[in-house]
Amino acid sequence: MKKTFGVLIIGIIGSIIASFIYDSIKDQPLLSTLETALLFLKNFIVLILSIKVSLWKILGIAVLLISAIKGYHFFQSRKTPKPPDYTSYVEDQFHSWVWKWDWKYDFQTESWVVTNLVPYCDDCLVRLIDRSNYLRANAECPNCKNRYSSAYDNYEYNDSILNLIYGKIENNEYAS
Ligand SMILES: [Zn+2]
Repeated sequence: MKKTFGVLIIGIIGSIIASFIYDSIKDQPLLSTLETALLFLKNFIVLILSIKVSLWKILGIAVLLISAIKGYHFFQSRKTPKPPDYTSYVEDQFHSWVWKWDWKYDFQTESWVVTNLVPYCDDCLVRLIDRSNYLRANAECPNCKNRYSSAYDNYEYNDSILNLIYGKIENNEYAS
């Protein structure tokens, strides 16, 4: 019994420390750690006073409660913010090529980033397959088998297109 109690206490202290570390890393206010600890303490006292069950059960419930609170905070902080206007800008022509893409919210940088950037075949408007290597940008149409390359035309690397897209947004030159 004493051993179980010790293990549970270590577990609880551990989760509070983990929660504190998580908050420091995520740049969240210290308040949420304090709030979690106080809520836990409150629930713990209420349980001790009202239910006559063995201590390890109370501690088990307390651990579940703290996990639920932590989980709630986590999902609250992971909510995707409202997409800005420029996220409706998903297609453009750069030089002679048509490119299409999607937007996704990056929680690391807290910004909207381009994803699934794909060039399209000029003739059939089918997604091209990227065949680029370290020497040049290459793409191939799976339909008409047209080959596009930076070696003989205006085909661009995805990185260049990315910067052109962000550049248009920064300079407010995009059409959505
Ligand atoms: Zn084609």
